[in-house]
Amino acid sequence: MKLIAYPVMILSACGVLMCVLLFGWSLGANNQIVKMAPAIVFPGLFLVWLPTVLLMNRLTREFKQKDLWKAALRGCPPWMRTSLWIVLGAVFFLTFALPFLSGSNPGTLPSNFILFPVCFYAVSFCVMYSLIHVEKYDTGRRCLNGHRISPLAKFCEECGAPQR
Ligand SMILES: [Zn+2]
Repeated sequence: MKLIAYPVMILSACGVLMCVLLFGWSLGANNQIVKMAPAIVFPGLFLVWLPTVLLMNRLTREFKQKDLWKAALRGCPPWMRTSLWIVLGAVFFLTFALPFLSGSNPGTLPSNFILFPVCFYAVSFCVMYSLIHVEKYDTGRRCLNGHRISPLAKFCEECGAPQR
């Protein structure tokens, strides 16, 4: 699994960078680049999203639906999860709320379809990072008394003590 996860993680990092760069250029009203962008951004998206979905399935299959994201991102450090939600929030704000508030139709802004894929690339990156580090995370979870506890549990199933 890690053999796939590493290249996908690197690709999605490139994807995020590329989208941000393209978005920056599109703000500078470089129409040539804006026209070219979908041809780069979307095939890349397909390339990382497919393995992400497949690997995420393996990462989360023992968990309930409501814990899906918690389970998928459990190998990420907390700051990474926080940054991910901030990035997603910012992208949603820039692509939907901002054009709405300024009175223009979100669909007409050419830069939006460049920025929006950042969400997918960013999620993909974090899921892959999580996948690579999940073993260490899962085996490292112990209660105060040193029993192993399951990945999302807050308390030990054996003695009820909280996580160390
Ligand atoms: Zn215990």
